[in-house]
Amino acid sequence: MDCVFCKIVRHELPAEILYENDKVIAILDINPIHYGHALVIPKTHCLDFLSVKESDLHDVLHVTQKVARAIVTTLKLEGFNIFSNNGRIAGQSVFHFHMHITPRYPDDNIKFVLQLKSYDGGAMAEYADKIRHHIL
Ligand code: AMP
Ligand code: ZN
Repeated sequence: MDCVFCKIVRHELPAEILYENDKVIAILDINPIHYGHALVIPKTHCLDFLSVKESDLHDVLHVTQKVARAIVTTLKLEGFNIFSNNGRIAGQSVFHFHMHITPRYPDDNIKFVLQLKSYDGGAMAEYADKIRHHIL
């Protein structure tokens, strides 16, 4: 399979591996937002957050917490973000599910540029009703 993360999982491509077990590998991102930015990747290939197997998701989150603790301690961080980009329009560039852990610093000026909306009338309840209907 021509997937960069699968190649890293198989140790066919070099990576700075922070941690691995039989289900998950954590590496440093090659183009970090801040130094120490890490990626946590299930060893079994899957496209994104919606398709990752529940047990792999559990293992990925567990390792994300373990690695985040180490990054916070090492870099003496006051804060960090964990996130996952899903779909090209959301910024996903490697189509093998992964979590990002990125250090944050005071005044580092990293932010989503947001124009926040408010709901009109019953729109909030309508959105909630529609979404609840699709929860399986
Ligand atoms: P995303 O854009 O959310 O799919 O994240 C993919 C991330 O993988 C990006 O931040 C890239 O910098 C990173 N990346 C791509 N190739 C490699 C690689 N060979 N080793 C480490 N990180 C990589
Ligand atoms: Zn893959």
